[in-house]
Amino acid sequence: MVSVLIRLILGLVFAVGSLFSYFGATNVNPVTGENQRVQLSPRQEIALGLQSRQQMAARHGGLFPEQSLQDYIDAVGERVVQRSEAAKAPYPFEFHLLRDSQTVNAFALPGGQIFITAALLGRMNSEAQLAAVLGHEVGHVVGRHGAEHLAKQQLGVSLVNAIGVAASGGEDGGQGAAAIAQAANQLVNLRYGRQDEAESDRLGLKFMLQAGYDPRGILELMQILAQSSGGRKPEFLSSHPDPGNRLQTLKAAIQKSFPQGIPPNLEDGRDRFAQVVRRR
Ligand SMILES: [Zn+2]
Repeated sequence: MVSVLIRLILGLVFAVGSLFSYFGATNVNPVTGENQRVQLSPRQEIALGLQSRQQMAARHGGLFPEQSLQDYIDAVGERVVQRSEAAKAPYPFEFHLLRDSQTVNAFALPGGQIFITAALLGRMNSEAQLAAVLGHEVGHVVGRHGAEHLAKQQLGVSLVNAIGVAASGGEDGGQGAAAIAQAANQLVNLRYGRQDEAESDRLGLKFMLQAGYDPRGILELMQILAQSSGGRKPEFLSSHPDPGNRLQTLKAAIQKSFPQGIPPNLEDGRDRFAQVVRRR
């Protein structure tokens, strides 16, 4: 009887402790200004993203073999980050074109690892559309959505220790490696919630505008995805829910930013895109 009571008390203490560590670890995001519950530091997010990127690439046939296309993805991604507020985030962004020609999708891992499939690239016809996708994924990184997800899963504490040990090259009997593998698995299978998607849409639109891209690119992209018929619905839409609603929200946001119409100096990059992607 006494031991049951002790176990109950211990259980309670642990529960309160883990709640405390969840609610205790709030940080102010340097880009969005939001208070966030994350246990991982940006350095740990970066380490975790690097640990998981192989697994993400492997799920989609590896990296696309043509360097000229990869270079183009890098250039557009760099422009979106360097010319926008995303540059204030402490992450070294890396953009990867995946070989997968079936799955229409894009992904982000914590710390700046971003992926787009060849299938999605193949449906686009302007650089602004590409900037819109990359900007949205940069939004997931800057918004720290992966780290928030892990904090909610109570994985944070063991992971913080594990990544600390892994980074210092210490021995931990394989427990740390297991925690990292578990986190990597969660991250590559992660479907962000509606709120995260809405925030990434908002951030992505802001970043592409700051980078000088025509915001109609994001509207066209949503339409291309929604209209694409022929059997399977693009996975970008199933993991990025509610396209109709998002299109309306984006339209309203663009209208609000440019009540006098979209400035003519914003680029859609249609010709450059056609040169690099279409006329290969
Ligand atoms: Zn998303």
